Amino acid sequence: VKFEGRFRIPAPRAEVFEKLNDPHFFASCLEGVSDLKEIDENNFKATLETRIAYIKFSFAVAVTLVERIAPERIVARIDGQPLGTVGRLTSFAEANLIEAEDGRETDIVYVMDVAMTGKLGSLGQPVMKSKAREMEQGFVRNASKAFAAPDKPAAADQAEDYSETGLLAAIRRFVAAITSPLASRRSEEAAQQAALIPQPPRSREPNMPVGAVRRGAAARTSLDFDMVTARTVEEAVHLLAEGGPSVRAFSGGTGLMLMMKTGVFKPTRLVDLTGLEGELSEVRMAADGSLYIGALTRLADLGRSPLLLEQAPAIPLAMPRLSNVRVRNAARVGGALAHGDPHMDLPPVLAVLGGRVEIAGPTGNRQVPLDEFYLGYYTTVLGEGELITGVHLPSQAGWQSIYRKTTIRTYDDWPALGVAASLRFDDGLVGDLRLAVSAATEKLTRLDAIEALVRGNKLSAELCREAGRQAGKGLETTTDIHGSAGYKKVLVEAEVTAALETFLSTGQAK
Ligand SMILES: Cc1cc2nc3c(=O)[nH]c(=O)nc-3n(C[C@H](O)[C@H](O)[C@H](O)COP(=O)(O)OP(=O)(O)OC[C@H]3O[C@@H](n4cnc5c(N)ncnc54)[C@H](O)[C@@H]3O)c2cc1C
Repeated sequence: VKFEGRFRIPAPRAEVFEKLNDPHFFASCLEGVSDLKEIDENNFKATLETRIAYIKFSFAVAVTLVERIAPERIVARIDGQPLGTVGRLTSFAEANLIEAEDGRETDIVYVMDVAMTGKLGSLGQPVMKSKAREMEQGFVRNASKAFAAPDKPAAADQAEDYSETGLLAAIRRFVAAITSPLASRRSEEAAQQAALIPQPPRSREPNMPVGAVRRGAAARTSLDFDMVTARTVEEAVHLLAEGGPSVRAFSGGTGLMLMMKTGVFKPTRLVDLTGLEGELSEVRMAADGSLYIGALTRLADLGRSPLLLEQAPAIPLAMPRLSNVRVRNAARVGGALAHGDPHMDLPPVLAVLGGRVEIAGPTGNRQVPLDEFYLGYYTTVLGEGELITGVHLPSQAGWQSIYRKTTIRTYDDWPALGVAASLRFDDGLVGDLRLAVSAATEKLTRLDAIEALVRGNKLSAELCREAGRQAGKGLETTTDIHGSAGYKKVLVEAEVTAALETFLSTGQAK
């Protein structure tokens, strides 16, 4: 895989080159690098810890500077060995420094060639590219800050923990990319086809004391881990917070088991939340018409809830096409939101209904709007020890909502595109509109510009088509096993148009 990129640093080239050659300065612009060992002036070793989605990974990294031409060029060879995951990456990375703005600023142009083996090799390019972009933005932000205030390192408080050559930024991009928990989407497909998805190990036994631990083992894997049943939210938070990155919440287990079977995630402990059923599996309506859906509610129960069918039918109507009845009977709302795969059906639906995720954590409770809950591919705002306890929806009175799912294989396949729309007419005009797209993008995305285009206007077939056209044109789509980015753009145009057109036929658009 080849990566290329360019970013600008607000300082002259010689200054930039000199600073980037100082491993401590360079590392201060990064996070997660420790144990730097300078073998000699061209060889370095370090540990790189990175957090992708909700998992932390450690990499043993070796960097050899192959070429260093002041003030314009650095070439390095990078070897990365992930700890606890099968695979390896090797890469050549080249960074060229180019004068810009009459020599007052410097453009850094980088190219990297990466080869990956083992489980790492099954990762798709969209994941890597998205992570590369994210890492580049972080590095540019920190480096720009440091050059703007030259006496202060970018992260002075952490400087002694950091190390490395000017190319660790690049390593981090790779590491971030290859440690995505869905590195093995293809393995997951294979597992599905071979019907290899085992029943999750269950820990909850009638007489099991609160917080009791027993050993679990996924039947057909060599994994060995503890299962702990939490009986209260506080206890679950405590158990999750104390354990570190290999401790995770377990609700339905359908997503976790895929990650464990493919070796992407190796838990030391799972905190079983199903002991919190009861209050956390309720769907209820308050006097003001607002709705609450508990995190332990099964997806199958969403599909048959009379209350939701009456108050927010887009939710139950989306369920029959969400995988199969086995998955829906096991999977819970909290897991479906926390998993963070952009190919999930529930998040866009709840987002356009105005959903807010209720989160409990070590420092208290908070609520986050669903359209701000996802930070990137498999990355959510959930911090260590935090768990989802439920979702709040405002009253849906006056709103009409729809979810349109496009699949390329079977009716109930993972979506190639999900489009959700929620609209309220106001005196014959579009009073308000919420539009969200998932699956075709690296994370759930609200179409703010399209909403603004339509809002306040009379809904017409032409306006629906124009909204679709602009949505397809403006959206950055991804390539994956469900289709190319170009194909997804065409789908977005057609499906946004079709979603809006459904409101034309409701008879409320005068
Ligand atoms: C064969 C198959 C097909 C599928 N097809 C589709 C599809 O078409 N559309 C679709 O939308 N989905 C699909 N899915 C995904 C499925 O919806 C998810 O696996 C499921 O929603 C996850 O819920 P769970 O309760 O099983 O989560 P788990 O597997 O228990 O957990 C998933 C993740 O969420 C975390 N987690 C769980 N609960 C909480 C909580 N309350 N707070 C914080 N973190 C939590 C876990 O630690 C883990 O990281 C499919 C799954 C399978 C196995």
